Amino acid sequence: MNNLLDITNEDLKQWLIDHGHKPYRAGQIRDWLFNRRASSFNEMTDLSQSLRDELSAAFEFGTSEIVSLHEAADGTEKLLLEFPGGGQIECVLLRDGMRRSICISSQVGCAMGCVFCASGLDGVERNLTAAEMVDQMLKLARRLPSDERLSHIVVMGMGEPLANLDNVLAALAHATDPKGLGISPRRITISTVGLPAAMRRMAAENARFNLAVSLHAPNDELRTALVPVNAKTGLEEVIAAADDYFDASGRQLTFEYVLLGGLNDAPEHARQLVHLLRRRSALLNVIPYNPVAGLPYQTPSADAQKEFRKILQDGGLNVHFRQRKGDEINAACGQLRRIKPTVVQTIAAPSSQK
Ligand code: SAH
Repeated sequence: MNNLLDITNEDLKQWLIDHGHKPYRAGQIRDWLFNRRASSFNEMTDLSQSLRDELSAAFEFGTSEIVSLHEAADGTEKLLLEFPGGGQIECVLLRDGMRRSICISSQVGCAMGCVFCASGLDGVERNLTAAEMVDQMLKLARRLPSDERLSHIVVMGMGEPLANLDNVLAALAHATDPKGLGISPRRITISTVGLPAAMRRMAAENARFNLAVSLHAPNDELRTALVPVNAKTGLEEVIAAADDYFDASGRQLTFEYVLLGGLNDAPEHARQLVHLLRRRSALLNVIPYNPVAGLPYQTPSADAQKEFRKILQDGGLNVHFRQRKGDEINAACGQLRRIKPTVVQTIAAPSSQK
């Protein structure tokens, strides 16, 4: 069966024409999906019963199961989803003032092997389809009251989005489509470990989104130790590809830097970073390490963070320290994984509370 979330508005129109229906029905169907957040064709009451039946026979959508749902006191919610095609992923809804941001996953697991990240601990199982990424968007949107809308998307969950670029771009096309979620590409960020070939492809073909590049170290030796894929790419190539994307998109480029106590947080590292980035109008997003069960890394002390920040700022860099959100439910950066969490409160699935 085809998944409705895998096909474009144009394909849906063609399907309707081929089956003797008016193409404008596509707009109605997509309005039900993305704005009215319907979870079945039967809810689409302005379509004839026979069209609803035909659609149900031809298409499925939103097939994942919510395995668990966790809510943090700061309003962050995390869903663990299981797909019939196999595999579990996590995705997150973040509330911040007027913002309603979601963080979605692009793969089951991750092959990049960054030593401090929970998502890659067991390697990668498979790419997610576009439909499975749109499904995450819709499942998270349904957590909002009907008068609230998603405002921002970050593709920063489990997986390396640039290793699954076709499907990521197809999913984001639904997000930006005015007849889809209608979110401006300016409010969408793709985070990459830094795969230069795919970054250049994005620059050439689709430079509409914000790009965040995970740097984590100011020199090759340290970067390769923390981000093993760097052995193949090298820092210089990653930064050159980032510059190309900046030139093509005109967007502010963001570099991410997970701060690991005793590893990459020394004053010397901050000085090297200044040297590396100072002639760019990039933003450096520093993320103090979020603890991952079973990993030995340390979050730097407040004093060490302050000193690191001061060197960067004195060096003229545009620095932002990311506020930790959702860590009490293991929903913060780097904490997403695919095994079912055993602790914390589970609010979903009353059927399991027999
Ligand atoms: N593969 C992509 C996107 C997923 S990770 C990438 O590498 O960018 C999203 C961000 O969370 C990355 O910057 C990643 O390095 C960071 N991150 C991973 N583990 C973390 C941890 N334990 N604490 C804080 N940030 C972490």
